[in-house]
Amino acid sequence: RFITLEGGEGVGKSTNLQFIRHLLAQKQIDVLLTREPGGTELAEKIRQLLLEKHSESITPQAELLLVFAARAQHVQHVILPALAQGKWVLSDRFTDATYAYQGGGRNMDNRIIAWLESTVQGELRPDLTLLLDAPVETGLLRAQHRGKLDRFESERRDFFERVRQAYLTRARQEPRRYSIIDAAMPLAEVQNQIGRAIEALVS
Ligand code: C5P
Repeated sequence: RFITLEGGEGVGKSTNLQFIRHLLAQKQIDVLLTREPGGTELAEKIRQLLLEKHSESITPQAELLLVFAARAQHVQHVILPALAQGKWVLSDRFTDATYAYQGGGRNMDNRIIAWLESTVQGELRPDLTLLLDAPVETGLLRAQHRGKLDRFESERRDFFERVRQAYLTRARQEPRRYSIIDAAMPLAEVQNQIGRAIEALVS
């Protein structure tokens, strides 16, 4: 089984990732925890390139291709081998993030993303995608408090609003794969809902 966790800035991805890991461990499920962009040595180097500042700005096209270059490594060298061994894979972000950030945020054409997706992944799609959704303002405030917003100081609010809407649009298009979690709720309630979505996958 392949589970992905998605959401904008400051929605509580890291906390809930650990929660899901514990949940699966309790059920004796062997899970590989990984992340995007990243997950292999080369893909983590690409992540660095994406997050660092450079003397020129990164174009949306370059960003899109780098994200998929990292994903190609991640899929071939980590995700597919783990699934083939019968492990579960839990990834902090995957291709839905590309539809949200590069598609929604940076206005890259969804058809090009879909083409890269099938080229890089073949048939591989998550079995379950948990989308942590919260109003942009809520998430940005949380992220700011933790000093996590350096790269995004320059990004405007409407960028994050487009990211959020792109996630929600995809989630509504594929309701069977997605579980939308209201991340503005108290943590206990968020985790309750996550628990139910995972339970449905286990049984
Ligand atoms: O998941 P995490 O917050 O660690 O990701 C690092 C940053 O990379 C995020 O702030 C996100 O905005 C950005 N990102 C991106 N495009 C992706 C995936 C992540 O711009 N496809």
